[in-house]
Amino acid sequence: MDVFFLGTGAGMPAKLRNVTSIALKLLEERGAVWLFDAGEATQHQILHTSIKPRRIEKIFVTHLHGDHIYGLPGLLSSRSFQGGESEVTVYGPKGIKEYIHVSLSLSQTYLKYSLKVVEIDEGVIFEDEQFLVEARLLEHGIPSYGYRVVEKDKPGTLLADKLKEAGVQPGPIFKRIKSGESVVLEDGRVIEPGEFLGPAQKGRVVTILGDTRYCENALVLAKDADLLVHEATFSKGEEQLAHEYFHSTTNQAAKIALKAGCKQLCLTHISSRYDRNAWRELVAEAQGIFRNTEISEDFKEIHISNR
Ligand SMILES: [Zn+2]
Ligand SMILES: [Zn+2]
Repeated sequence: MDVFFLGTGAGMPAKLRNVTSIALKLLEERGAVWLFDAGEATQHQILHTSIKPRRIEKIFVTHLHGDHIYGLPGLLSSRSFQGGESEVTVYGPKGIKEYIHVSLSLSQTYLKYSLKVVEIDEGVIFEDEQFLVEARLLEHGIPSYGYRVVEKDKPGTLLADKLKEAGVQPGPIFKRIKSGESVVLEDGRVIEPGEFLGPAQKGRVVTILGDTRYCENALVLAKDADLLVHEATFSKGEEQLAHEYFHSTTNQAAKIALKAGCKQLCLTHISSRYDRNAWRELVAEAQGIFRNTEISEDFKEIHISNR
């Protein structure tokens, strides 16, 4: 599981940072890539990476500001010409359906794959046997969502040799034990699954937030996350400006990570008013509050290792 930054700037494309798009690479887990936002030229950024558009399974849109969605119609369209045949689901705030429908229909774009668009409310917006995604509203002037991606715990591996030593032969019974069931053998002995399963593997949590002021829901979404991706449009000391423009400062992002008990914080949505030399300063400000902080850069990747 890796978080790959395709675009990390605020508002407008800049030479050093394109507008927002973040890929959550779940290649080992499900052979898929999930995208969070698709600012203008997201597909151009993807051309410089090993990401295959046909692998994109889900796109989570945080909010409808242009720097987060102007790349979406082009990306969806090109995917058709890049071997994309599997279904794509786009999740986003009310209005995302109309935006995609109008863009694709006026340009007479016909997709070769099925596209589902889901206008979300707060709560669990997706769940299968592997993952659960929860969305909550942040504070940004227009509806802006944060997403919490929770990988479910994996049961421990079956200790087959130990079972054989206990006289249990491989077969359907192994499957029942692996699924956590107690099994009564023909001779009356009871096999408790706990004794024959290795330790369960804890699932990972990644929280990716849309643009926002410092807010309570960010804390809830970030609780104990392995990685929190939080915007930091402004530097420490610009709290007034951040408040007026519905954004956050480096220090506010760090406070969220600290209070929520996150393992790691990555700052993104960096304004072009901060040049390369200022980035180190921005990280240092946040590190004063939350030690394990990094700053995003276009094409940076963060690996989320198993717990
Ligand atoms: Zn933005
Ligand atoms: Zn915005």
